[in-house]
Amino acid sequence: MALPRRGPRTRRAAAGGDSNASVLSGATTSATIDSVDLQLLDSKLTELGEPRYRSGQVWRWAARGAAGFSEMSDLPIELRDTLAGAVPFSSLTVEREARASDGTVKALFCTADGRPVEAVLMRYRDGRRSLCLSSQSGCPLTCTFCATGQMKFGRNLTASEILDQALHFRRVSEVDHAVFMGMGEPMMNLDNVLAACERLPDIGISHRRTAISTIGWIPGIERLAADPMPIRLALSLHAADETLRTELMPVNERYPLPDVIAACEAHYEHKRRKVFVEYVMLAGVNDSFAQAAQLADILDPRRFKVNLIPYNPTGSGYTGSSPKAIAAFRDELERRGLDATVRLTRGRDIDAACGQLAARARLAVTVAEADVAGAAT
Ligand code: SAH
Repeated sequence: MALPRRGPRTRRAAAGGDSNASVLSGATTSATIDSVDLQLLDSKLTELGEPRYRSGQVWRWAARGAAGFSEMSDLPIELRDTLAGAVPFSSLTVEREARASDGTVKALFCTADGRPVEAVLMRYRDGRRSLCLSSQSGCPLTCTFCATGQMKFGRNLTASEILDQALHFRRVSEVDHAVFMGMGEPMMNLDNVLAACERLPDIGISHRRTAISTIGWIPGIERLAADPMPIRLALSLHAADETLRTELMPVNERYPLPDVIAACEAHYEHKRRKVFVEYVMLAGVNDSFAQAAQLADILDPRRFKVNLIPYNPTGSGYTGSSPKAIAAFRDELERRGLDATVRLTRGRDIDAACGQLAARARLAVTVAEADVAGAAT
């Protein structure tokens, strides 16, 4: 959806650009809220001699789940027709969609330039409706257990492309939580992610019910800490030992764990909200009793909460830990005073569809019930 302008974003510009040029070589880094769509809608409205408030009207309809311009009954009917013919209603087209019996819906979209983007809607018995959103098409990082990390990096998504994932699901259901745990590293596209976050409350998702997950991209963690929006920070940690973490997540060499933990602690000091640590459980790799103790040693229970993630096999050569091993790991963390939960797996019965949705792309089928619940607290 085209986004109406909401004043200059000088605050973020002043906070400094991402220092990610080397990793992002070849990526589109410039687009922020000024997406192609916005320019198209704004220029079309100007060309038609329409008043400035029109683009705000269009956005309010879209944010409430309108399926197209034709539903926007407070716009003159000729204008609705003209816009329908001139401005694409979404920057994304739906390529595939899969529905699980537990209410999970996974969508594979395609951008105007042919890039794959995935997003998931999870519905819970207690009524929560949570979205898992992508920030990039593919990912420039190369975490060895992650299917997105193994596919070719495309580019950063624009704010419109991020919001259009949410708007797609908003058209079928009210939504109230969002996590940036789909494709990509949100901190490497933080301008666009935050621009999208600013709009999420219009769709029904407050900042407190929004979580951004990162591999530990320190400049992004610092910027999020300084941002006034009370967004939850989640850290993908996966190994307390530096050598093992570098093996699993090569980016650890760039941002060593002690520095990442310090940045997360500073985030806690600013926001007073616990940082959620994600820890994917890999059999015989990071799931031993000693590794639980090591993890507990580096995390302050007042500032961190751990969410253990059952591994979703991707053909990477890793095997997921057994439920017994996961429970023992959790018990050891709890015995040492850390809050620890095990992520519920959603959408199991549509796992098979993942391959159909995007040839090599991982779909976030195991997005956290616990994470999402926590994002609300
Ligand atoms: N780049 C960000 C956000 C996207 S990934 C980050 O890494 O935090 C969201 C979470 O899913 C991360 O914790 C990631 O490690 C985890 N993940 C990746 N592949 C997985 C898999 N095959 N099974 C379970 N979790 C996985």
